[in-house]
Amino acid sequence: MNRLDKYEVLKKYFGYPSFRGGQEALIDAVLGGRDAFGIMPTGGGKSLCYQIPALMFEGMTLVVSPLISLMKDQVMSLKTAGVAAAYLNSSLTPRQIRLVWENMAAGMYKIVYIAPERLETEEFLSLAQHLPITFLAVDEAHCISQWGQDFRPSYLKIVTFLEALPRRPVLAAFTATATEAVREDIVRILGLRRPLQIVTGFDRPNLNFEVMQPPSKMPALHRLMARFAGKSGIVYCATRKNVEKVCEVLCESGLPATRYHAGLTDEERQVNQEDFLYDRRPIMVATNAFGMGIDKSNVSFVIHYNMPLSLEAYYQEAGRAGRDGEAADCILLYAPGDLHTAKMLIEMPGENEELSAEEREQLLRQNRKRLEQMVGYCKTTGCLRAYILNYFGQAGEEKCGNCGNCRTHYSEVDITTQSQMVLSCAFRVRSYLGYPVGKVLLAKVLLGSADKRVMELGLYQLSTYGLMRAYPSVRVRDIIDHLIGEGYLLVDPNHGGVTLTEEADGVLFRGIKVYAAFKPLPEKERKTRGKRGATVAVGTPDEELYGVLKRLRMELSLMEKVPPYVIFSNASLADMATRRPRTYEEFLEISGVGEVKAARYGDVFLSAITEYLMGEE
Ligand code: ADP
Ligand code: ZN
Repeated sequence: MNRLDKYEVLKKYFGYPSFRGGQEALIDAVLGGRDAFGIMPTGGGKSLCYQIPALMFEGMTLVVSPLISLMKDQVMSLKTAGVAAAYLNSSLTPRQIRLVWENMAAGMYKIVYIAPERLETEEFLSLAQHLPITFLAVDEAHCISQWGQDFRPSYLKIVTFLEALPRRPVLAAFTATATEAVREDIVRILGLRRPLQIVTGFDRPNLNFEVMQPPSKMPALHRLMARFAGKSGIVYCATRKNVEKVCEVLCESGLPATRYHAGLTDEERQVNQEDFLYDRRPIMVATNAFGMGIDKSNVSFVIHYNMPLSLEAYYQEAGRAGRDGEAADCILLYAPGDLHTAKMLIEMPGENEELSAEEREQLLRQNRKRLEQMVGYCKTTGCLRAYILNYFGQAGEEKCGNCGNCRTHYSEVDITTQSQMVLSCAFRVRSYLGYPVGKVLLAKVLLGSADKRVMELGLYQLSTYGLMRAYPSVRVRDIIDHLIGEGYLLVDPNHGGVTLTEEADGVLFRGIKVYAAFKPLPEKERKTRGKRGATVAVGTPDEELYGVLKRLRMELSLMEKVPPYVIFSNASLADMATRRPRTYEEFLEISGVGEVKAARYGDVFLSAITEYLMGEE
């Protein structure tokens, strides 16, 4: 076509004076006929890596991409830059497709973007066999891996397509997902031959990462909005409902916010997106449906109102901040309740109908693991940036000095005693039942919960039942997690049962100490008496607690096969709900509670009351 060198092409078509990290090496490899594999974060500049060779090669380049909107954008900007390009996907009519084919046959395009499922139609194959396809680039290559979060079986068709070609073109793959398992899959399944593999820096030094655990999110969001006044940013929420709520509250307080989620009409989404892009409404409240292909450079903050489902998702969304290189903030508002929402979202049957039941099960397991690592990010007291980079397989410094955790000093505390409580409880539960229970149930036993399962299994009879009643439930779970992390407890990967390892003996019997740094708990969790306690006037029963006690009484009555009033009268329950006893002595003072009943039911009711007062999430 022309004899420009790569620098001239870069300048002429794209208007840039120099290459970014990794681009040049990948382009050189492809131009030299070698396969290439580029792993770059979103926004790293993957497109140029195949567009420039495409412009310099004699023949034609096919780019496989799963994203219809992205194809359209890219082709549009290529055309504007004076490059003959087209795309083939389901958004075209049969007539339009035919037209593109004719033009392809006539050699009119340098680059054609194509959706993977188009590759295998008979007609396209026979056309392709006569085309001078010199180069095939696979964008979002992780879609070929079952370990990837967006596995698309149609990506496997690339392999069949390549085999059907008379001459194998140079092959290059690009992705932003860099976990080791996915990388290996891409190379193996696509059949890349000794590819030049380049992982460019995933680090975005201008992004400041922070995780906050406020007692209540909305006021925290308001404070953040005041901090970022006048700036443009995105607030991501887990659900449409949250988007609606948050956007409404922000608008009511006079902020220029708009919203985006899959439940809106195409038209409204378009309008809102443009309001955001053109800074008419510089604050976007959205679900993860928003952002693909958005390249707004002056986004100064990305706030996650809820925890995302994986670090891949988080880094991609947070990474939309600071594209212009200016300092930007990525803040995640975490509450333990987010985990419930996240679990629900993960367990929901996926839309991906291409998957078999077995594949779906595998995906589910993978997603659970991802979620666990996401929670780890929210809980870690270590450097957040290091956590992310480490997750993406890029070893870095231990402390970046520019994240919420690096700027906070978390001191390690001795949790040996608490650890011994947990370990001996796990041990006792196991010997009592003959099998181990999961960590949630273990925590409940330690907290002395009157949970149905605890009751049914008879775990309230153990001496370790309620041993950690004085601790907030969140902290008890943190300690269990810590012991798992340190290898004192082992979680069975199949049924989740928690057992002691040999190392645990050291803590229990040989004076080994356990230390941990935990994040301080938000106000609500720290107080022994929650705000419910404060608002209830002396002398009136706490209605909610009364309800809790009634349900507990019902459960006991079913279990013991006696009428509820035989256990305690309504008046007794009302008295408990009013005085909220915390100790055995206090419990004995409740009207209608004698020694025998106190001995028999005291523990169960006391722990229900304690748990209630601690404000379970
Ligand atoms: P990715 O596909 O990796 O997410 P893109 O290819 O869309 O990233 O590139 C992201 C942005 O960076 C685009 O606006 C692109 O024009 C720009 N860009 C890419 N390479 C360079 C470069 N060498 N110099 C300046 N800007 C670049
Ligand atoms: Zn850090």
